[in-house]
Amino acid sequence: MERYRVKPKSSIDPSQWDPNDRSAFDGGKKKGRKALLALNERLEMLQELLYAENRHKVLVVLQAMDTGGKDGTIRHVFEGVNPQGVRVANFKVPTPKELAHDYLWRVHQQTPAQGEIVIFNRSHYEDVLVVRVHELVTAERWGRRYDHINQFERMLVDEGTTILKFFLHIDLDEQKERLQARLDEPHKRWKFNRGDLKERQLWPAYMEAYEDVLSKTSTAYAPWYIVPANRKWYRNLVVATVLVETLEGLGMSYPESEENLDDVEIE
Ligand code: ADP
Repeated sequence: MERYRVKPKSSIDPSQWDPNDRSAFDGGKKKGRKALLALNERLEMLQELLYAENRHKVLVVLQAMDTGGKDGTIRHVFEGVNPQGVRVANFKVPTPKELAHDYLWRVHQQTPAQGEIVIFNRSHYEDVLVVRVHELVTAERWGRRYDHINQFERMLVDEGTTILKFFLHIDLDEQKERLQARLDEPHKRWKFNRGDLKERQLWPAYMEAYEDVLSKTSTAYAPWYIVPANRKWYRNLVVATVLVETLEGLGMSYPESEENLDDVEIE
C-alpha cells in the first residue's frame, strides 16, 4: 500500500494519480470482493482487541469529492465490525454555535477515546477545501490552517492516537456517471442535490485545494493515502488493507485476566 501513501513534503498533483489504478491487487472484482470479506473478518477481530485493550485510539479521516464514495467505504470496509467500538462523525456545514468557535473546536470533540475507532466523514480538511474554494474566510486565514492542522494532529498522535487519512480519488467522468445514476435510479434520487452540480463546476479549484492539502499535511505521523476510487471494490480493498495492516502493526494484546481462573467454579 506504500504506493498510495503520500510522502511528507512531496509535491502532489492529484491529476497525475490514476483513479483507475488497480496495480496492487492481482485479480478482478470478484476476487477483490472475496479478499475484502477476509479483511472484514480480520478487522472485526482487531477492533475487538483494540476495544479490550482499551489503550489505542484510532482516527480514520475520509475526504472525497461529491459521489467519491465516503458512505460506501464506511459501509463496506466496516461491515461486520461491532458497532460498540466504532463511531462515525459527520462534518456538515457548521452550525452558528460551531462557527462562533475556532474551526477545530467541533473536530476535537469528536476525536477517538481509548479503545475506539472514529471515522471522520469529512473533517477539519473542509476548512481548507470548501472554505477556501468558496472564500468563506480570507486567504490569509485559511493559509495558516495547514500548520494548525499539522500541529493538532501531532498532538493527537503524541497523546496516543493513530491517524490514517484517505482521499478517495475519482475523476470528472466517474462523477458524471455517479450523479447520473442518482437521477436514474429511484432509490438513489434522495441523494441527488442540485448544489452538487455547482460544486462540480468548481472541480479545478477543488483539485488545487486538494493539491495543497496532500502536499502540506501528509506527515510521517498522520499520512494521506490517495485511493484510486473509480472502482468501488478496489477502493474498499485499499482502505481495508491499510487499516488492517496499521492495526496489526500496533502490537496489541488482550489484557491479563485475573489470576487462577482455572479454579473458578460457577454454581
Ligand atoms: P455528504 O456530501 O458528506 O454526504 P452533505 O450532502 O450533507 O453530506 O454535505 C455536507 C456539506 O457540508 C458539504 O457540502 C461540505 O462541503 C459542507 N461542509 C463541511 N464542513 C464545512 C465547513 N467547515 N465549512 C463549510 N461547509 C462545510
